[in-house]
Amino acid sequence: MSTESETIQVKPYNVVNKFVEFFKAFESEEGFKYRKLISSMVLDSKISLVIDWQDLLAYDEELANKLIDNPKEMLEAASQAIKEVMRVENPEFYEKVEYFHARIRGLPDTCHVSIRGIRALHIGRLIAVEGIVTKISPVKQQLIEGVFRCRTCGTEVKVVQQDQGFAKPSICPVCEKQGKKRSEFDFVPEKSRFLDWQRFVLQEKPEELPSGQLPRSIDVILKEDLVDSVRPGDRATIIGFLSISRERTRNEGAPLFKPYLEANYVEVVSKENLDLEITPEDVEKILELSRRKDIRELIINTIAPSIYGYEKIKKAIATLLFGGVPKVYPDGVKVRGDIHILLVGDPGTAKSQILRYVSSIAPRGIYTTGKGSTAAGLTAAVVREKSTGDFFLEAGALVLADGGVACIDEFDKMDPKDRVSIHEAMEQQTISIAKAGIVATLNARASVLAAANPAFGRYMLNRPVSENIDLPVTILSRFDLIFIMTDRPDKERDVELARHVLDFHSEKYPEYVENVIPRDLLKKYIAYARKYVRPKLSEEAKKKLMDFYVEMRSKGEGEGSPIAITPRQLEALIRLAEAHARMALSEVVTVEDAEAAIDLMNTFLHEVGIDVETRRLDIDVVMTGQSKSQREKIMIIMDLIRRMIEDNEGEPIRREDVIKRAVEIGFEESFVRRVLDKLQESGELMEPRPGYILRTVA
Ligand code: ADP
Ligand code: MG
Repeated sequence: MSTESETIQVKPYNVVNKFVEFFKAFESEEGFKYRKLISSMVLDSKISLVIDWQDLLAYDEELANKLIDNPKEMLEAASQAIKEVMRVENPEFYEKVEYFHARIRGLPDTCHVSIRGIRALHIGRLIAVEGIVTKISPVKQQLIEGVFRCRTCGTEVKVVQQDQGFAKPSICPVCEKQGKKRSEFDFVPEKSRFLDWQRFVLQEKPEELPSGQLPRSIDVILKEDLVDSVRPGDRATIIGFLSISRERTRNEGAPLFKPYLEANYVEVVSKENLDLEITPEDVEKILELSRRKDIRELIINTIAPSIYGYEKIKKAIATLLFGGVPKVYPDGVKVRGDIHILLVGDPGTAKSQILRYVSSIAPRGIYTTGKGSTAAGLTAAVVREKSTGDFFLEAGALVLADGGVACIDEFDKMDPKDRVSIHEAMEQQTISIAKAGIVATLNARASVLAAANPAFGRYMLNRPVSENIDLPVTILSRFDLIFIMTDRPDKERDVELARHVLDFHSEKYPEYVENVIPRDLLKKYIAYARKYVRPKLSEEAKKKLMDFYVEMRSKGEGEGSPIAITPRQLEALIRLAEAHARMALSEVVTVEDAEAAIDLMNTFLHEVGIDVETRRLDIDVVMTGQSKSQREKIMIIMDLIRRMIEDNEGEPIRREDVIKRAVEIGFEESFVRRVLDKLQESGELMEPRPGYILRTVA
């Protein structure tokens, strides 16, 4: 044996050969898996090959274990092996690509670490971490090999860059020979080598957060073909090396480091996969439950059993949990399946309690307040990181709840910047953002269960809903159902409620509380229904919904009568009926499902859609914020203003004069003032100088 081959023995060359062998020889049911994958890399111009750790384990246990113990060198060897195979397989492609990457997935359980569980012992190791992507930087270019040109003689010098700092040459080799001690250099970017680079933040999943704890997170670095493989709101498993970077602190003592993950492989969990493991035994229990006649009552009973009453609201929430079926029409138009519900009510009517409960049983449920828990608020934002000055795209609550339910308390306290984007979020279920060079569209396919407090502290039943809530009607109209929760003394209800609450406090639970589904099972039941059941409308159900719609519309026919219902409500009805069918895992939407949907819609329309002045049903109260009778009154006032301006030869008129004249013809002063405010707000009137008004359009 020659000495040369001996040196090869101790170098990691044999590891490279082992990987080459593995790629060539590994055979599964699919045939020579890695040979095929390597040839397909050429077709798709890919520079990465994904290795299943389990395959490696089956082929060579020692190699698989070595990879876990010494990941950096082993993966380097595997990457070289890809290059080796490629040299034979496709010399042309081999020439074109400088570096190939071996990526690894399917690590054993021992390599899975929670974000909270990351410790010093994991540094330098390959670990798998699960979480949700909350913020992401734009793609940048990292310098790995810099070329510098000497200002004196033009010689170019190459400097390989290390992880920290910008390494420059200090002396030019040509000038040095002529006795110079220092040289000046210019950086030559077009001859230097860069890598695509991106940083994002992976956070603990909200539903896995220990209650009362703040979520923890870790920075992840993506390079080359991995950049842009995740978006904010994605749930992902990242396999990578745990590295550390120096913390810039004024701390005395030994230096401190902050961990970050250098990604090797990224697996994004699909929206349908609800991160819940449903075993075959679970499926059996789920199917058994679904066959019970009282399954729907059972589900409704399970929603916040400690809260007394509110049967209709709980029923509506049950439909929200299951949701309708999203649709994409042949022309590309999408209709959401998610149901949005708003609860408006007096303080202390258990709104917050209900929301918290729902977030605990909903798949991917999130509880937040209108202000949101981060700078990103409810939708999304571009934020600047203080320590680095970098801009990040950060996901808000609706993006984080993608594929689940966002329970938003104090909805009326929403940030003004969210008010604009929430329209898109609730209807198209996406959020578009363009700021500081970041342009992105994020998914927000979530149901919204929102709670709001009345604008005047207490709900005023003699005022339309739009006046009671401090939110634009365009947002109100995005809700499928709105419920009002008032706290008025009512002897009978008060006695019942008190008994219920006192019983709960003394741990004497009413009978029906025993008749509930265990929370974990309900969660799985809902996840199963959302994933596998896609009910279709039966002919009878269609007819029922159609008849209801046409009948309600006909109430809006004829001169001057209010419109009771719009196509928006028809879509809501279909969603509600589908959700009602899903509650029993039924593939068909029956007449009963349609009736249940109509019943919920009627409750909503009667509570909220009533023109408080004429006591007639009028969806415009919700949709435009004005009932027909009110609109007529506003027209009269506008007419009056127009005539007064005409009489004044087009010059601005005094606001107080308008009010005086309007009161003379029978209007209430406060009403006129309110109308003037609103008209000014909406831009129909302007105030050229204090106390004077003019019509915007003459
Ligand atoms: P809100 O958010 O509407 O202001 P909360 O959810 O904070 O109200 O409720 C206040 C308290 O009153 C809670 O402890 C809640 O359990 C109790 N409560 C209110 N209404 C009911 C009810 N119908 N049944 C049981 N408890 C109730
Ligand atoms: Mg509250």
